[in-house]
Amino acid sequence: MLSVAEARQRILTHFQPTATEIVPLIASANRALAKNIQATHDLPLFDNSSMDGFAVRAEDTHAALLTLSVVADIPAGSTPQVTLAPGQAARIMTGAPMPNGANAVIPVEDTDFDSRSAGTTAPQTVSFSKKVNVGEYVRPRGMDLRAGEIVLDSGRRLTAQDLGLLASLGIAQVEVHKKPRVALLSSGNELIPVDQPLESGKIYDSNTYMLTTLIQNAGAETLHLGTAKDTRESVAELLEKAVAEKADLILSSAGVSVGAFDFIKEVIELQGKMDFWRVNMRPGKPLAFGEYRGISFIGLPGNPVSAFVGFQVFVREALKKLSGASDGSRLGSGDAARSNVKVRCAEEITSDGRESYLRAILREENGVFSASLSGQQGSSNLLSLTQANALLIIPAGVKCVPAGQEVQAIFL
Ligand code: AMP
Ligand code: MG
Repeated sequence: MLSVAEARQRILTHFQPTATEIVPLIASANRALAKNIQATHDLPLFDNSSMDGFAVRAEDTHAALLTLSVVADIPAGSTPQVTLAPGQAARIMTGAPMPNGANAVIPVEDTDFDSRSAGTTAPQTVSFSKKVNVGEYVRPRGMDLRAGEIVLDSGRRLTAQDLGLLASLGIAQVEVHKKPRVALLSSGNELIPVDQPLESGKIYDSNTYMLTTLIQNAGAETLHLGTAKDTRESVAELLEKAVAEKADLILSSAGVSVGAFDFIKEVIELQGKMDFWRVNMRPGKPLAFGEYRGISFIGLPGNPVSAFVGFQVFVREALKKLSGASDGSRLGSGDAARSNVKVRCAEEITSDGRESYLRAILREENGVFSASLSGQQGSSNLLSLTQANALLIIPAGVKCVPAGQEVQAIFL
């Protein structure tokens, strides 16, 4: 049976970044940049005040107590028309351009001007006893960055703060990779959509809702194919929909095990091929990978926890590669499994020797994460998954981890 690492490797080599498109800035969040972004101008664009106060000539302030005449009022968004002569100051607001001749700002708090509420007009004169140095409370042009600088690298998944920076550079459109489109199907005669009445022997389809959310959090789009019945015809019909939709990936859950009604593998092989269909892991052994009419196919197990773990371990990485995001790039705001960290087991943990992903609760104690299992570890048990904040990874070949030993964990 394939190891998790081999299976992941085999899956990942099949995926290449999607084509690129130019989108309005607001639509680029969480998508991967297709090109480096070069600053089109300096930031800030002009010398401006970092405080509400008075623009002055620093050399004028070196007397003990000083009164300057206020010759202009410069709100943010205006263009100053004056050049300060010796003995002159201008009232200035935060973000307003510095007038010619001025080289420092005295905050209003450090002056005798005490009407500081909105709507007050500038005084005739202003007095202060503090000496200021050249450049104080001035944000000089180009202080943050210079025109021509590369500010964001290609492959970066754009964050909220990145969008802020791009907007401040006046970049209204961005070239990003297309969102990967995932054709999702569940399978099984027993499945009922959540808004329908239950019938005897049936269960609610939970995977569709869980997987749709995981797909969205990974920055991809879901095309819902629906639920296949346990017949060859029904499976084939849904797979054809994925082909018609030109999906980037077909993702199914259930029907890839060794049950008498697990037809998915067989139908895939009629018009495609299976690369593998079992992985040496727990939960999640019946995990299939192949291709159907030119579209990559990943078949997750049916049990909800197995499907979740299979997604975290294989599908997320595949979607990241499809999305054009570079390796170091974060996986997006809603992304669940963000980091691999070392944690300490608070209790002895046993495993069956397959690479195991166990639901655990991490607690931080003196800067160290201590992990205890979050309850039942059966592959259908979603409650303990909702209670977990991490998956502990017990390596293949290890059957017992004593309390106090460190293991790798995926944060949820
Ligand atoms: P299978 O791989 O088809 O044998 O399914 C394994 C187990 O997962 C069975 O108990 C199924 O009822 C269950 N299962 C399959 N699909 C879903 C689903 N979409 N939501 C919840 N449970 C499912
Ligand atoms: Mg089934």
